[in-house]
Amino acid sequence: MKINNPLRISIFLSTVITLLLILMILFFQDFRFIQNDPTNILFLVFFFFFIMVCTYMVTKKFFHEKIKVIYKNIYKFKGTSRLDKLNDLDIDHVQKEAEDWANAKQNELEQMKQDENYRRDFIGNVSHELKTPIFNIQGYVETLLDGGLDDDEINVKYLKRANKSIERMINIVEDLEVISHLETEQSELEIENVIIEDVVNEVFDLLEMKANNSKISLQLINEASAVSVRADKNKLQQVFINLIHNSIKYGKKNGKTRVSFFDMGPNILIEIADNGIGIDEDSLPRLFERFYRVDKNRSREIGGTGLGLSIVKHILEAHNQTINVRSTKNVGSTFSFILEKGE
Ligand code: ADP
Repeated sequence: MKINNPLRISIFLSTVITLLLILMILFFQDFRFIQNDPTNILFLVFFFFFIMVCTYMVTKKFFHEKIKVIYKNIYKFKGTSRLDKLNDLDIDHVQKEAEDWANAKQNELEQMKQDENYRRDFIGNVSHELKTPIFNIQGYVETLLDGGLDDDEINVKYLKRANKSIERMINIVEDLEVISHLETEQSELEIENVIIEDVVNEVFDLLEMKANNSKISLQLINEASAVSVRADKNKLQQVFINLIHNSIKYGKKNGKTRVSFFDMGPNILIEIADNGIGIDEDSLPRLFERFYRVDKNRSREIGGTGLGLSIVKHILEAHNQTINVRSTKNVGSTFSFILEKGE
């Protein structure tokens, strides 16, 4: 029997004390104490219970009550409510709870440290990304002010370049805004039945000009039996915009982008495939990190921010899904994810 609650502690202590008393009596008075008068046995029984009640009260008051407070606090922090179990609380149980709680807090602290480092890196990256276009703009404006404005050879050229840098900054700020909204509204997805073909066709319309400029054809192949998926429509549209836009940005002239839907039991598998420049194997694991680009110069040249795929990942994770990619350099890339079929 484990001595781990007030009752057991008091039984243990009163047994020990009573045995000590008996030993003392035997030592001073020998066995006749018990044999001579049976009421002495009654006295011992009474003594046993008296000690038991006293130790029970003391342990309960000064020891158990305090543990109870600690235990209550642990549960308050944990956000659960098993306080009804407080009356049969034992020390082993509290010890285990305290250890679990300490481990959970340790993990939480480590996670917070990781988040903190991540934030610090993120802020560093944002300022680095914004610094380049700002300095470029400053350079062009200074040259124009130093007389370039009157030089017809360069004035329009520099203004156009400054404008391009401003567009780049706008793209970064817009993507950062999307990320910030996603982080604050994570639990506020408006999940509904979304006709997936409609979403893709809307995105095709939106990106038609860009696709035409690069002579890339956009195709939709639907092999799924269901017409709708459970998703947040606007966010799903953002996923398609980013992935299809990338397939155009990193596509080859006269290439094609194909969006396909396949049945997968209760889900629909969605693939966005292109026959563009592809991605080397080493870059694949880092592809969805914020600000990661395979070819920094090419991405910047075409107005990329390095945030598009991380937004896609974020949105799909909010839908409890993941984004996958297969790619072969110079052959093409396929991005895929699944969504639950609509009702
Ligand atoms: P960006 O704004 O630079 O396009 P993304 O986060 O959308 O940022 O993509 C990250 C990087 O992944 C891109 O810079 C590009 O190198 C690579 N990438 C994304 N999509 C494709 C694709 N379909 N084909 C080839 N490379 C791609």
